[in-house]
Amino acid sequence: MLRQPATRVSPPDDKLNELARCLEATMREADGVGLAAPQVGISLQIAVVDLRKVEKRPSSMEIGGRPVDWRTQMPLFFCNPVVTLTRKKEDAEEGCLSFPKVYGSVRRSLRIRMDFQDLQGKPMTLQAGGLLARALQHEVDHLQGILFIDRMEPETRKSIAPALLELMEQAPSNTKAS
Ligand SMILES: [Zn+2]
Repeated sequence: MLRQPATRVSPPDDKLNELARCLEATMREADGVGLAAPQVGISLQIAVVDLRKVEKRPSSMEIGGRPVDWRTQMPLFFCNPVVTLTRKKEDAEEGCLSFPKVYGSVRRSLRIRMDFQDLQGKPMTLQAGGLLARALQHEVDHLQGILFIDRMEPETRKSIAPALLELMEQAPSNTKAS
């Protein structure tokens, strides 16, 4: 499921709202800052981020070219997102709720633009910087079947190999799943 590109959705939709609430609740329960539908086994293009509890890594957001207090936009739900990256990149530590206790450095754009639909189906465009830019890139990757480990440098991947192996051994066998 995590490797599949997710299907586009058509907000507004009652079922989609229900899924959004489920994503938010699951994210909070797991003490995470973002979650995408494929991570709960549903291959649809919807995700949520909420960075309000992160104090040490700054974020910025602009809507319509004007700076806004990103905290007021959280939890941020987004459907059918398309991200435009900027050239300037930075390396920083990342984790993922689908890979408990696995952390490694990932290179991502410092600033991005994201076009998406909100839960009402309204087309939105925002610019994000800092941790918010990183979190959005991570979640949008999930909707395309791309994982943070795919974006790690070979040496970083090598260093997390033991942790990944441990995870695979803990996971229930699904070799018989269709
Ligand atoms: Zn993730």
